Amino acid sequence: MVLLRFAPSPTGSLHLGGLRTALFNHLTARRLGGKWILRVEDTDAARFVSGSVEGIQRALEWAGLDYDYGPSVGGPHEPYFQSQRRDLYHTHAKSLLEKGHAYRCFCSPDRLASAHAELKARGSNATYDRHCLHLSEEEVARKVRAGERNILRLNIDNVPDRESPQDLIFGQLKDAHASLATDPVLLKSDGLPTYHLANVVDDHEMGITHVLRGEEWLPSLPLHLDLYACLNFPPPQFAHLPLLLNKDGSKLSKRHGDVSVGDYIEKGWEPGALLNWLAVTGWGTSADSKRTHKEGAVSAPDSTAIFTLQELIQEFDIKSLTRRRTILDPSKLEIINREHIKRTASTPAGRNKLQEEALRLMEKYLEVPKRTLEWGPLDADKILHSVVEVCIHLLFK
Ligand code: GLU
Repeated sequence: MVLLRFAPSPTGSLHLGGLRTALFNHLTARRLGGKWILRVEDTDAARFVSGSVEGIQRALEWAGLDYDYGPSVGGPHEPYFQSQRRDLYHTHAKSLLEKGHAYRCFCSPDRLASAHAELKARGSNATYDRHCLHLSEEEVARKVRAGERNILRLNIDNVPDRESPQDLIFGQLKDAHASLATDPVLLKSDGLPTYHLANVVDDHEMGITHVLRGEEWLPSLPLHLDLYACLNFPPPQFAHLPLLLNKDGSKLSKRHGDVSVGDYIEKGWEPGALLNWLAVTGWGTSADSKRTHKEGAVSAPDSTAIFTLQELIQEFDIKSLTRRRTILDPSKLEIINREHIKRTASTPAGRNKLQEEALRLMEKYLEVPKRTLEWGPLDADKILHSVVEVCIHLLFK
């Protein structure tokens, strides 16, 4: 049974990168005849933004990405909020501790900071001097009895041998631990797991077969594979999605245009067009075709090729994604959106939907009260491309 998951952290609104991850999870699950879960990774209480789960759900619904299991839907893997799965993480943390794969660390934040600074001054890459690894069993027991706050760390010297990392997009990878923290933290002093422990435990417990997530998690893959090996879990397949960039090569950010899905909803872009744009961006280009052809994936479509969600399910193969970071070009969305509007307008129901949307947009951006055509002062800046597209189409169809 193929099972995937989209696992956002509720730290704000859903961005284009997140929607693209959800889309690729949806496409892969549907293409392989499987299902996907929406899992809320809310173990970082300090970064929790209230209302963001609902916002993410609304954005997925608008886009037509219907998860099979998750909040408001239910399913066999409940609960879908990590904050409600604490006992599970503790059970597995205990087994890591018992097998010597993990140890308790009682160092105060001040001690950790000074140890790190000292290591750095000596030119070391290490982030922790492993002071607590050398505490005797009696000493640990005494500190626990005395209620001293502690965290749980992985003992990186006691990890079973395992295969080197493999990725469906990036291929065979070097097993580099250098960029990782020394003896990474698994449980925090508030008893909540770090992302690393929680995602490995949940992906295993939920029976996830394919993990599709952002490229920013690629450096953590060796650590995750270590955890799979320590816990004696078979790892799933991984695909890390290359980052999307602005036209100047910088990371997508609000300064260069809209990044929140909510902005695209507000401005009236067609949901199918937004998905189409995200899917064709980074779909293997001709330079990658040798690799993609060899692996039996489809060849690259044009960067403005038109696909409905259903067509994407049939055509898209995660293995055909380029491993290079890709520029997301807003002018391509305009071209794609125009085609999607034409398709929507080809049925009476679609025309009604567009008309409704045009009225909503006129009311919002042209300051016209709904259904009356008393035009307010025209603010050219507020006339958005999609408004014009919809209006032109309705007037000249
Ligand atoms: N919670 C992580 C994030 O929002 C997801 C990482 C994953 O999919 O494993 O980036």
